[in-house]
Amino acid sequence: MDTQYSARRQAVAERLAERKLQALVVSSPVNVRYLSGFTGSNALLVVFAGGQPVLFTDPRYGIQAARETGLRPRIVRGGPLAPAGIKAAAGRGRRRIGFENLRIPFETHARLSEALPLGAELVPAGSLIEELRMVKSPREIEQIRRSAEANSKAFAAALRKVKPGMTERDLAAELDHQMRRHGADQAAFETIVAAGARAALPHARPSDHRLKANQLVLIDMGALRDGYASDMTRMLVLGRPGAAPRRMYEAVLEAQLAALDAVRDGVAAAAVDAPARRVLRGYGMDKAFVHSTGHGLGLEIHEAPRLGRNEKTRLKAGMVITVEPGVYVEGLGGVRIEDTVAVTANGCQNLTPTPKDLAVL
Ligand code: ZN
Ligand code: ZN
Repeated sequence: MDTQYSARRQAVAERLAERKLQALVVSSPVNVRYLSGFTGSNALLVVFAGGQPVLFTDPRYGIQAARETGLRPRIVRGGPLAPAGIKAAAGRGRRRIGFENLRIPFETHARLSEALPLGAELVPAGSLIEELRMVKSPREIEQIRRSAEANSKAFAAALRKVKPGMTERDLAAELDHQMRRHGADQAAFETIVAAGARAALPHARPSDHRLKANQLVLIDMGALRDGYASDMTRMLVLGRPGAAPRRMYEAVLEAQLAALDAVRDGVAAAAVDAPARRVLRGYGMDKAFVHSTGHGLGLEIHEAPRLGRNEKTRLKAGMVITVEPGVYVEGLGGVRIEDTVAVTANGCQNLTPTPKDLAVL
């Protein structure tokens, strides 16, 4: 049996005790996975402040759940899992039962409430599990590194097939195809390919727009491998870009390196965002930087902490974050450069192997 899951549940149990909660109903698949190893889509896990956890699922997942978790799952036939889950959570006179108020579907919450015994109450647990998930184990960092490697290999393989006249959609499909070929289970999010002026939309959807000579192309892609996400943005140029896009690229690269340089254990998240903005201000481009500098990632592509300008969360060794400043100018285009990095005691370890110079084709 894998002891990392019982260690995580133990950490949850300690936090439950601090908040005087006797049990926690975990209903989101990603947090069930984090605390048990179960990768199926329908499960409910009850963790107690003291005592063995109980995992509920349906008959489709009986064998898989037992294999993946080492627990003996309770199978609920032909109905929702919530009534059985709340019965277990509030059994033996337990009164304060935590639930995932930030993630629970309205319907599931209604079912928990209906089946709640008299005298017991449902207490919002907030981001109790998400806070634990922020700091990754060495093994998780290795999994994210492998995800980043698959992603970078896919990028390199797809690059060999880029040619003018290709549509954004074709290139996105090629990137996704290469991701799977290089070990990803799937893309961690919808791959972004935005050429020329379309890159002024930070989250552009790939379109039928064709790649042309002498224009910048923004590619933002991430793999999901073994459950773990990676995230990278790189810029391509076919031919020679004009002076304006080239200056944007230089500014963003300098901003990204300044932000990377600020990453280390103990600094506030805002202290990584600030140097990126400072560099861009020097270029007169800070107003064109319309998002935060980065975000945590792991089992999900966006996790805590957020690296925004007012973010007080302190970075800790073991957190895995992205560093991705960008500038976006309507009519001209956009530039973003993004790496996935692990925070260390003295700095960070870049998990993204793809070189960062403008890829000229
Ligand atoms: Zn990204
Ligand atoms: Zn990102």
